[in-house]
Amino acid sequence: MLVNAYGAHAGDKPLEPLRITRRAPGAHDVQIDIAYCGICHSDLHQVRAEWAGTRFPCVPGHEIVGRVSAVGAQVSGFKVGDLVGIGCIVDSCKHCPECEAGLENYCDGMVGTYNGPTPDEPGWTLGGYSQKIVVHERFVLRVRHPVEQLAAVAPLLCAGITTYSPLRHWNTGPGKKVGVVGIGGLGHMGIKLAHAMGAHVVAFTTSDSKREAARALGADEVVVSRNTGEMAAHAKSFDLILDTVAAPHDLDVFLGLLKRDGTLTLVGAPPTPHPAPGVFNLIFKRRAIAGSLIGGIPETQEMLDFCAEHGIVADIELIRADQINIAYERMLKSDIKYRFVIDSATLAA
Ligand code: NAP
Ligand code: ZN
Repeated sequence: MLVNAYGAHAGDKPLEPLRITRRAPGAHDVQIDIAYCGICHSDLHQVRAEWAGTRFPCVPGHEIVGRVSAVGAQVSGFKVGDLVGIGCIVDSCKHCPECEAGLENYCDGMVGTYNGPTPDEPGWTLGGYSQKIVVHERFVLRVRHPVEQLAAVAPLLCAGITTYSPLRHWNTGPGKKVGVVGIGGLGHMGIKLAHAMGAHVVAFTTSDSKREAARALGADEVVVSRNTGEMAAHAKSFDLILDTVAAPHDLDVFLGLLKRDGTLTLVGAPPTPHPAPGVFNLIFKRRAIAGSLIGGIPETQEMLDFCAEHGIVADIELIRADQINIAYERMLKSDIKYRFVIDSATLAA
């Protein structure tokens, strides 16, 4: 079936209206009428070919929420009308140790929601800046938030799970001091989630203007990372620092804030590497630098349920599809508190 979408034909071209094909639902497929789709900084990296391997036309979008509009004959977990979400993964090998552990995000055969290999037209996946999507039921998430919050639930499908998973993995909870670097789409969710898990949360920002707003998100303290005096006050004190920044930057200033055995976990994915950190900053306190990629499907469901239970959604600005290119420019200037979400109804025109 043909549906309306928004995408780009080349890395240096703006996004524009497109018509794309969705497969008819197979036996295990769920067809979703997309209501909203968040705009992740990864969308911009991919569609502008800042990362290697973008295939065009590219239709980004992996923070998808909507309603089930058809199900295949073998689908048992979902029915027409259900509120659901699709995140960054639409397929995986389903039998490797990672898939069996529910860590499809680390499967070598993981298929991303856009730009991933698929037998469907045109040979790579096309994402959520579109009216409908068809996905194997294993990768469909149940949304339990009230329907009025649906637009603000969309960013949980990437920004939410990408911060929830490392926070859980590194045992965030009462008595732990956790830093979140960069208060954008990911960072603002990291602050809300770490706060809800009971940690002492410190937000690091380059934007003086976000100081008050970050406290409202749940940060116990806010540090403007350019101010060396403010940074020094936190030396050797953190259990975990989650770095969500989308550009290369100095990691040493954050490593020095970790206590013994503390971890700096990178989730930001800048197109060019960070400058290499000093070895002495690592060996003297047995500090670690780690990375984390989104999260598996069971943990994504756990995160959605945790957010529904704690009343957590993203802070969003709802836009029309024809405002996507403007939204990208504003995101690059950190001029958004904190996530743009596309109203998919505006794709109908
Ligand atoms: P975003 O909304 O643009 O937020 C990034 C934040 O980083 C900005 O709001 C800004 O915060 C800070 N920042 C930006 N440029 C900076 C610079 N040059 N120096 C220092 N700080 C800077 O982006 P996002 O959607 O949260 O995504 C962040 C990164 O995570 C992207 O690279 C994205 O591709 C990646 N990502 C990774 C995963 C994963 O699985 N690991 C998943 C999703 C996204 P302040 O204004 O507070 O300084
Ligand atoms: Zn994302």
